[in-house]
Amino acid sequence: VKEQVERLLQTQIIGRPLVFREEVDSTNTLAKELADAGATHGTLVFAGQQTAGRGRRGRSWLGLPGQQVFLSIILRPALPVSRVFELTLTAAVALADAFSDLGVTPEIKWPNDIEVGGRKIAGILCESAIDGAGQLRYAILGVGANAEGALADIPPEIADRATSVEAVTGRSGQAPVLIAALSRRLEEWLQHSDLTPVLKAWKQRSTTLGSEVRVLVDGQTITGVAEDIDETGALLVREGSRRHRIIAGEVTSLRRKPA
Ligand code: ATP
Repeated sequence: VKEQVERLLQTQIIGRPLVFREEVDSTNTLAKELADAGATHGTLVFAGQQTAGRGRRGRSWLGLPGQQVFLSIILRPALPVSRVFELTLTAAVALADAFSDLGVTPEIKWPNDIEVGGRKIAGILCESAIDGAGQLRYAILGVGANAEGALADIPPEIADRATSVEAVTGRSGQAPVLIAALSRRLEEWLQHSDLTPVLKAWKQRSTTLGSEVRVLVDGQTITGVAEDIDETGALLVREGSRRHRIIAGEVTSLRRKPA
């Protein structure tokens, strides 16, 4: 697999170097260890199997049968800590473009998922390390994506909510292609120092904006129309005459209400 990805890579920075392991507990954890030991900006860690993949709030990312994408990229951007959230938005746009490159039409679900027809095909988990002086040391961009498997092969816990590149396009063996495509797209999108084009692309691909949503925020339910995201990545939801500003880290779940 490593040779396949290496052959497909068209980047200067992302995926240089590439680190492959047959099996890890979590690629984000391994990437953190490597970053703490000095691994450089752009280092991409990927695994054949991930036994304890993490989502937000302690939830887990399950590996479907077949060859899937479990990867983490070490980033050392010149960003103040207050702007780290921009990496999640940038990653979502880059990942969406990578899916488009594979013939999959992606939708971005706020804050950190890629869906196809309402089914999740990939998730993003961005974690950061901050030094004693409050500066960003590095960020880890973790991506779990379903490359292989028919809908019938998806584990029952997520069977009604997940899909894969193979299920959508009929093509198997797309994990290395997706890794290379994401690397290239991320390298391109990271060149924008200004968030405006990222936000514009994010909004164009968003399935959340304009929808009726039900959001669970720390035990409270908010029902309304997701109107926009602001320049900090927070979701703005109109509930009657109130406009809530919802921060990703506080959200337990967001569901679109069927029309
Ligand atoms: P939600 O489940 O409300 O969409 P979320 O988008 O915040 O939550 P995360 O916590 O980032 O999700 O990801 C973990 C969730 O993703 C799990 O609770 C599970 O429902 C779902 N999930 C786990 N593995 C997969 C997978 N391989 N494909 C699709 N969905 C998955």
